[in-house]
Amino acid sequence: MPEAFNDVTITSLYNPETNKNTADIFCPKEGCRCLIIRKNTAVLVERDADKLSLPESVLPAEANVSDDKEDTQFWLLKDMMDFDNVGFSKTVGSVKFLSCADCDLGPLGYHDTACSPKEFLISIRRARYRF
Ligand SMILES: [Zn+2]
Repeated sequence: MPEAFNDVTITSLYNPETNKNTADIFCPKEGCRCLIIRKNTAVLVERDADKLSLPESVLPAEANVSDDKEDTQFWLLKDMMDFDNVGFSKTVGSVKFLSCADCDLGPLGYHDTACSPKEFLISIRRARYRF
């Protein structure tokens, strides 16, 4: 079973030499088995959290996304085809929000259509991990 973000150590999630993910990245919802990104596909980056300022109530309680911390660390993909599964929820301005393709849980991250080069970002805290 994938492990919740709060049960893993951040430094174990990425390769310190490449910053790539060392675990398969799953939907944060307990019981949902949707694989979002395979290991060694995404790069850990720091980004502005403002674009992800959406109600966290849409996330399940077990996702443990607490209000006092900002989402500033993201998994970066440069091509939508690099996702194993991903859905798009709503669009606000130029920002499309990414969601689980199976259960529609979101937002898990975002894609700013005005940004060049293209970036698809998944919050590292809005995911579960399988090593
Ligand atoms: Zn899901």
